[in-house]
Amino acid sequence: MTELEKGKNYTARMMQAERNVKSRIDDILSDAAIKIATQARSLRFSSNESLYRQAVAVLAKDVLEKAMDSISEYVREYSKASISILGDKDTGATTRLLNSELFGKTFDERNRKYVNYFADDIANILIMCDRLKLKGNKITEAILAAYKSPYESDLMSKSQKAKKGPVSVPSYGRGVYHSAYQNIVRNAQGVISIAWSKERKNKAKRDGSIGFFVHRGSSYPCDICDAEVEAGLHEMDEEAPPYHVNCCCVVEYVYRKEEDDE
Ligand SMILES: [Zn+2]
Repeated sequence: MTELEKGKNYTARMMQAERNVKSRIDDILSDAAIKIATQARSLRFSSNESLYRQAVAVLAKDVLEKAMDSISEYVREYSKASISILGDKDTGATTRLLNSELFGKTFDERNRKYVNYFADDIANILIMCDRLKLKGNKITEAILAAYKSPYESDLMSKSQKAKKGPVSVPSYGRGVYHSAYQNIVRNAQGVISIAWSKERKNKAKRDGSIGFFVHRGSSYPCDICDAEVEAGLHEMDEEAPPYHVNCCCVVEYVYRKEEDDE
């Protein structure tokens, strides 16, 4: 296998790890959403939506604590999968990376923040269900259809038509993703791709690589990645992909030719 083929293969497996963690998160959060909704049945609907959200958040605490732990465990497992794919030994670097601050916060800190937002999203879905007078199974169906993207869902538009204007959409610096779910997935996939990239680069360094080329892994227009490709040979202390969320650029490490015996 050429170094480029190795790079392509590695990136394909990394993307599979990202898809796998997403499907784990789907299972964990759909399950958590139903549990929270079941517990919230004991709450009286108050006309004050903000108080209702606070009450749901209190009830959801234990369920969300477990969800956080499971997500964190899967992120660690799928990050460390890179080590066996490379046939490397565990140097502890991946664990250190996961425990370190990336862009100002550790993975777990960011995960905690987004998972806590999830209680608000579920409370808001329940508010929408109440406006539409949904009961029993209809509520479960509505939650499963809307938990990934409650504020862009059919449920949202129907419930706003049904009663008294908009459900207040929370905004606390969630970036471009308008749901807790999408932030949770983005955070998990983001850290996995960084972990895979660093693990391979560390191994390449130990194996004596002198630099790397970057190749586009998709035809999606991206100036950032095009510039990295055009930059040619990168030195080992330069940044390797991912250059952004969902970056699937391929790295080709370069090694010196074996000296001829003579
Ligand atoms: Zn890229």
